[in-house]
Amino acid sequence: MQARNHVPFAMSCFWLFAIATGRPIDVFGTMAAAIGGLLPDLDHPESVLGRRLPLLSVPLANTFGHRGMTHSLGAVLVMLAVLIGITTAYHWNTVAWLVPPLIVGYLSHILGDAMTPSGVPLFWPRKRTYSFNLFKTFSWQETVSVGVFTFFVVIAGNVTGRILEQFRYQTGLF
Ligand SMILES: [Zn+2]
Repeated sequence: MQARNHVPFAMSCFWLFAIATGRPIDVFGTMAAAIGGLLPDLDHPESVLGRRLPLLSVPLANTFGHRGMTHSLGAVLVMLAVLIGITTAYHWNTVAWLVPPLIVGYLSHILGDAMTPSGVPLFWPRKRTYSFNLFKTFSWQETVSVGVFTFFVVIAGNVTGRILEQFRYQTGLF
């Protein structure tokens, strides 16, 4: 899946997750989900985050190749462990809110790439890749599918209303 589609897909997966778990939908959580949705492509120096963080992306690409380790469930566990480490080292409440949106965004990326024919190595280092083979990366089908999904979540989940409500609650404005 291309980055342009990973971002709305990660955000709408986070909105769905928030609705399902009764969490409020906030702007920062949504942004964290979008970043989580871009993280796995750090294994590609030409990706959105990879271009900005060459110190991470170049060694990751050289060691694992694109759509390797960072696109596996093991990477999710590693990230979870790192995030829990950070949240226990720092004051829990200041960073703990970041964990669910980042993880949901990250998982949405793996799911998104699993929809394309090349699939994802879910159980890396096992080489087997898993794919639903729904659409090719950069195809119009991919953009339309993500667009329809996002539109559906926003409308059916009253996402705009929920974000505004949370914004009002946090800022005390209007
Ligand atoms: Zn990817």
